[in-house]
Amino acid sequence: MIKYRLICAQEHEFDGWFADMATYESQRDDGLLCCPTCGDTKVSKAIMAPAVPKKGNQQETKLRHMMQKMASHVEDNFDYVGDDFAEEARKIHYGETPERDIYGETSLADARDLLEEGVPVAPLPGVGGKQKN
Ligand SMILES: [Zn+2]
Repeated sequence: MIKYRLICAQEHEFDGWFADMATYESQRDDGLLCCPTCGDTKVSKAIMAPAVPKKGNQQETKLRHMMQKMASHVEDNFDYVGDDFAEEARKIHYGETPERDIYGETSLADARDLLEEGVPVAPLPGVGGKQKN
């Protein structure tokens, strides 16, 4: 026996038990299936819940992968300046030191100050391994 979640044309859902799929199909084709709520014989299988993650979850995973990729790219290619980040970023911004890609740590207040000065800083979630203890 298999159980199908069925739905009538009026969108009443109900469960139906059948010996197999062929039995369900022949009963449906013969109009033997009817909705217990309204008696409608236009009955079909209700759409099953998909087994794949929702689109939103996939996007989230993609985003996480992207962020991890970005983080490792930064760790591989950017100069780590640690606590001197704000100072170094300013020096680069004002041309006091050759332009280069840097990353490091700074306080939220410093980051805000940098942004106000027009220094393009961005938070990098997921960058680790060189964080101070
Ligand atoms: Zn119905």
